[in-house]
Amino acid sequence: MTRQTSDALYDRACKVMPGGVNSPVRAFRGVGGTPVFFKEAEGPYITDVDGNRYIDYVASWGPMLQGFSYKPVVDAVRDQAQLALSFGAPTEIEVKMAELICDLVPSIEKVRMVNSGTEATMSAIRLARGITGRDKIVKFEGGFHGHGDSLLVKAGSGVLTLGLPDSPGVPADLAQHTLTVPYNDLDAIERVFNAYGQAIAAIIVEPVAGNMGCIPPLPGFLEGLRSQSTDHGALLIFDEVMTGFRVAPGGAQQLYNVQPDLTTLGKVIGGGLPVGAFGGRADYMDQLAPVGSIYQSGTLSGNPLAMQSGYALLSSLYAAQYAKLEQQTTRLVTELKRLAEANGIDVVINDVCAMFSIFFTDQPTVSCFSDVHAANTDRYRKFFHGMLAEGVYFAPSPFEAAFVSTCHSDDILDVTLMSADKVFSQLA
Ligand SMILES: *Cc1c(COP(=O)(O)O)cnc(C)c1O
Repeated sequence: MTRQTSDALYDRACKVMPGGVNSPVRAFRGVGGTPVFFKEAEGPYITDVDGNRYIDYVASWGPMLQGFSYKPVVDAVRDQAQLALSFGAPTEIEVKMAELICDLVPSIEKVRMVNSGTEATMSAIRLARGITGRDKIVKFEGGFHGHGDSLLVKAGSGVLTLGLPDSPGVPADLAQHTLTVPYNDLDAIERVFNAYGQAIAAIIVEPVAGNMGCIPPLPGFLEGLRSQSTDHGALLIFDEVMTGFRVAPGGAQQLYNVQPDLTTLGKVIGGGLPVGAFGGRADYMDQLAPVGSIYQSGTLSGNPLAMQSGYALLSSLYAAQYAKLEQQTTRLVTELKRLAEANGIDVVINDVCAMFSIFFTDQPTVSCFSDVHAANTDRYRKFFHGMLAEGVYFAPSPFEAAFVSTCHSDDILDVTLMSADKVFSQLA
């Protein structure tokens, strides 16, 4: 398998784009080597610019839940393109989209569309701060909520210390308002509320962590966040940019039966076009401009192309498909574990419905960021490149989830498993 055209494009890209990419993880720094440039895709397959075809487990980071080039989505986008690309004024499809989201996710009574997950979380946090009149927010170690200033923050030296910027350019004055605690650790949440309760506007959490690999919430964790935030007058924000419409039609909040005050959405909701959304209780959402005084806006927000794309995808996801997605993921994960063991490779594989992650570790479980860090990232690197050479595309980073689509049939899984068996044997 040669990738001459990819390599040539990467050389050109590096001259005119920082790192040759428009988003860092694409640059393969997490696994080494040079990125693959893609050209077309169909169902579970993606094809690169050199004509190599791969079985895909990235799904454009989530949206390709029905596989690539899903006809209802492509048709909806083409039909809309012929009518109009954009007005920056109200359209019917925005109303249909909002009605569908409110139907699918009962905790969302009103919703506002934005253009990315980052915009959704930034806006939800401004809303929470505006509603409560408080400045501090709580997030979790290894939790990722896009690149907004208040969320690009790492833990201080102890659980009760204020956050530090996780990137140059984030003002320390702002980072100090973000408190970072370990995922799945309710005791830490209690300590943070005891120390700063009256100052905390919101907890923001991925209800299934997905940006340090897939880490499900431990039993009682989400319920504990719900009761602690209610007790202290803080809002609970579920960042479902990854989990929304991926782990259940109503998101992780449906799967675990815990209702947040605000929800952020992205990825799947655009069907492959850049879309985000945030929503929640009507009385909270009505504090946004133009009804209320908390300002938020977007020239191209609710853009008709993106709304048609998202609407076509979301309205295709009837509940029965999630049972199938879960069944296929469970089969893949169970067999991967068996093959790893047969080859003498220690792994923990976490999965929730249509997402999973392989951690190369001899620990019994992976349930927080420090567990993730104890895993062998060099082994993931070798696994990634081994699978790539076999024609199977996993995320180019040990800290990402893998995604299964409704096109991942038994045949596709069989090919994946045969490749994995071979690659595991090379790792041993
Ligand atoms: C991807 C992601 C984001 C950021 O979304 P963008 O569209 O990349 O800005 C935020 N939160 C979570 C949980 C995500 O997975």
